[in-house]
Amino acid sequence: MIDTGDVEASSAASTTKPTERRTSAKLESASADTKVQHPSHSKSGHKRVKSKTDLDSKSLDTGKESISGLKIDGVKAKATKEPKQLSQKRPAEAEDDDELENKANKTIKKRKSKEKKEKVAMPLAVRTAVGSLKHSMYIGAHISAAGGVQNSVNNALQIGCNSFALFLKSQRKWTNPPLSPDARDQFKALCIEHKYDATKHILPHGSYLVNLAQADPEKAEQAYSCFLDDLKRCDALGIELYNFHPGNTGSNARPEAIARIAAQLNKAHKATKNVITVLENMAGSGNVVGSTWEDLRDIIALIDNKARVGVCIDTCHTFAAGYDIRSAEAFKETMDKFESIIGLSYLKALHLNDSKAPFASHRDLHANIGTGFLGLRAFHNVMNYLPFQGLPMVLETPIERKGPDGKTIEDKGVWAAEIKLLEGLVGADAASDDFKKDDQRLQDIGAEERKKHQNQADKKQQKTLDALFKKVSPKKKGKARTKETLDDEESSDAGCSHSDA
Ligand SMILES: [Zn+2]
Repeated sequence: MIDTGDVEASSAASTTKPTERRTSAKLESASADTKVQHPSHSKSGHKRVKSKTDLDSKSLDTGKESISGLKIDGVKAKATKEPKQLSQKRPAEAEDDDELENKANKTIKKRKSKEKKEKVAMPLAVRTAVGSLKHSMYIGAHISAAGGVQNSVNNALQIGCNSFALFLKSQRKWTNPPLSPDARDQFKALCIEHKYDATKHILPHGSYLVNLAQADPEKAEQAYSCFLDDLKRCDALGIELYNFHPGNTGSNARPEAIARIAAQLNKAHKATKNVITVLENMAGSGNVVGSTWEDLRDIIALIDNKARVGVCIDTCHTFAAGYDIRSAEAFKETMDKFESIIGLSYLKALHLNDSKAPFASHRDLHANIGTGFLGLRAFHNVMNYLPFQGLPMVLETPIERKGPDGKTIEDKGVWAAEIKLLEGLVGADAASDDFKKDDQRLQDIGAEERKKHQNQADKKQQKTLDALFKKVSPKKKGKARTKETLDDEESSDAGCSHSDA
């Protein structure tokens, strides 16, 4: 069996339009260098960002795989190592520990919590001034809001986000405590302080439990109230974009499922003020709604107030759904289709993820940027497509790795480095040696993973062909599936999940 992963990787790297060769990039002075100060930092005298120790950064070691230390056209992606306290303890847990401390010892406690706050705010990468990039690309990640939405702002700042996503409440629970006025006020104040435009560059992600296509009246009501509660939180926080997965037909007819989604959205729009409900495109096939541009167009067509609906393109889902974006030509064709079927005016956000699974596999498996079947060339297309300017572009890539004690830890330095990598692609020359070197290095890191998923896709295809040939449904052969395949199929949605609220 041929490992097409490698074939695809090399062809992606070599497909370059002559015009793009000319878009050379004098990025030496620009953007992705971590020393570029964001205006908000320099103005507000954000001392911890400027401090010598913070800027004295080293290339980040992400364990066995080095995602960072990337060099694109003379721009070195840098990030400081995550402070020990941070990698072992999250802010929310730190607060719990505080409560256990002796209350009589208030002075010590105050000093300690001040120290903790400073540690939390210590940046892994300094935020790039968007104005210093050739195109205005607002790149960030889906960061943690553990302990309250107000914590998301510092978490975003810590890894150099210019946009970010978060969960507004626990995404795995139907009922949650209400948003406290204190958390709301702190969130708003921090957004102003750090110049995050909540109306444009903060993109909450909806709960995985919600299916607006739900046909059962009781379950549909439950989904709606959870959805509406999130939209009301957006209104309270001054957030105007809200991303969610359109839904699942549950084996019912597609047009009816689409009509149910639209009806729920119309109702929710009337019950809230400003927030734009942003439909995310999906990777899956079968009952999943939203893996074609036509599905999304059909939902939008039924929305009464078109100003309240938009679309978020997830690069991994797009590719897995069968829209190629690897070469400049394929990317243009995919975006032209989007424009003619949906319309670019509806595009409100992007999720930036590489894909562990091959083209048109319909599997939602996020990979780190450049290591998957998309490769760096696809992201060069994305970072240089002018209609994406001003939109939030959010990483949902895996950051878990084994710590020295064998326990799984989250290494946010991976996102810090990926943000710098992507910023380095803005205006960069995809024909340059530096670009090709990085492309190859990242492809090498992901080679094993791609091979595994290519084999799975090949086996699946072979089974379907066998079944067709023998006129036997592949489902009847279910017993023959190995445990390994089953585990993998079950975890096929893991790519889009995030660990905390
Ligand atoms: Zn996504």
